[in-house]
Amino acid sequence: MQKLNSSKYVRRGKCIRCGSCCRNILLYIEDEAIRTINQFEKVKEWDKHFTNFYVSGKNETGALLFTCKEIDKNNRCKVYFFRGVGCRMYPRVNSKFLINGGKPLDTCGYYFEIDKKFRTYLNKF
Ligand code: SF4
Ligand code: SF4
Repeated sequence: MQKLNSSKYVRRGKCIRCGSCCRNILLYIEDEAIRTINQFEKVKEWDKHFTNFYVSGKNETGALLFTCKEIDKNNRCKVYFFRGVGCRMYPRVNSKFLINGGKPLDTCGYYFEIDKKFRTYLNKF
């Protein structure tokens, strides 16, 4: 169970190695999805973990989609013990994201729940 960044939600479930969080994903600079190769080149200079990715498509809004070079054909991470913080935390409990309707990817084995203690607190009103 993970309970970071939120006292209201908990993460449950487990990774079933679907590989979806490593393929055709959006990458962000601050809160904006990367849309151009130029942005991508800049972000790679700031953070070497971005060099693991290559452009694998574009979504319907024009944002670039990226796939990690480290995922193998069996959906195993080739650098599992050295993977970045973003990979370790996925899917991260984040109240703002959840309140805005965010959820893990459809094929993901994780899900979020309202924390029992918080639900008890809500039921008092
Ligand atoms: S480093 Fe590993 S866990 Fe992170 S995106 Fe690449 S394959 Fe996935
Ligand atoms: S999307 Fe979820 S289940 Fe699929 S590989 Fe990523 S963490 Fe594991």
